[in-house]
Amino acid sequence: MKILKVETYPLFYAMKTPYGDANGMKNYRSCYMIRIITESGYEGWGECVDWLPALEHTFHNLIIPYLIGQKALDRNRITQTLGKWHPRAAACVNMALSEISAVKAGISMCDVWGGAYRDSIPVYASFQSYTDGDDWIARSLQGINQALEEGFTQIKVKIGGKSLGEDQKYVKGIQDQFHDQLDIALDANQSYDFATACRWQKTFSEWSNLLWLEEPMPLHQVAEYKMLRSFLSIPISGGENLKSVHEIVSLLTKQSLDIIQPDPEHLGGIDAFLLALQLSRQIGIRVSPHTYDGALSRLYAVLAQACLAPWTKMLDDLIEPVEWDVMDNPLNQIVQIQRDRDHVLIPQGIGIGVQIDQELLHHYLWDGSSYTP
Ligand code: MG
Repeated sequence: MKILKVETYPLFYAMKTPYGDANGMKNYRSCYMIRIITESGYEGWGECVDWLPALEHTFHNLIIPYLIGQKALDRNRITQTLGKWHPRAAACVNMALSEISAVKAGISMCDVWGGAYRDSIPVYASFQSYTDGDDWIARSLQGINQALEEGFTQIKVKIGGKSLGEDQKYVKGIQDQFHDQLDIALDANQSYDFATACRWQKTFSEWSNLLWLEEPMPLHQVAEYKMLRSFLSIPISGGENLKSVHEIVSLLTKQSLDIIQPDPEHLGGIDAFLLALQLSRQIGIRVSPHTYDGALSRLYAVLAQACLAPWTKMLDDLIEPVEWDVMDNPLNQIVQIQRDRDHVLIPQGIGIGVQIDQELLHHYLWDGSSYTP
């Protein structure tokens, strides 16, 4: 079953209103999807994210010439080779080849992985809190209210991009309005030092609805993370940018985090992502996947979470939630996942079990104009 063809779909959406976090403001969203087709007609979709001109060059000059004629079921060998050249492209190809294996077998991804424990997975509404202008807090509160009306019960908001005082005023504003209705995670995108992160504890001690504090400091500051973990009254999470299972294992064994947040796109592929989830369970650390950069990887995270062993036999609905981007980003609708309020139903079909919206896919094709990443 040889690879016959690889189609590429660089996708781009320019936002009318920029939004952002402690990493800065975004004025566009992009994504890079591929479809691998075998000689016998099996297909699989993959996805990655990076600067589109670089991905176009890499795929058309390096990845695709290598892939044509390879055996589609040799996923491990192919992923390993591509991983040396371009880890994000390797993750993308690994995703597509995983689906081809399931489609050839005529079963779902969950069946390939040993079966799902549950038929739905909780998702949390993930916000980019900052917008230009002095009214950013009011605008963010408006967005949170809308998410509440759509049935979300868990959210994540951003801190660390404004002064500590302004961010604390923001979080207090959310709590004043929504404390009884929402559980809240705070993401600082590695923007604090230890002393500043500690200054959140006074406010944390007042609330019982906080899910976690995400990446308060640069992740390599393991000693500071361990001290902070002892000091704070809420869990600490992180790990979205980890690039290998080796890096995950290294963090899991240092007791510096309560919740690990691997991303299928950043970790080198679905196989590595699944391994990271299983290892986290074995070591006893919670795992809540990061899936902000594409709807296909979000779907894979949901499917993998469905196959993750429950913490207890009594309360398996306490599975950790998956990130659900609620910002202005129509690229998310290309992968047609059904959300029911604060849960996503696990698709039952063959392979990934959902359709790729071809019309939207072509509508948001990048026109090749230059842009700054
Ligand atoms: Mg984050």
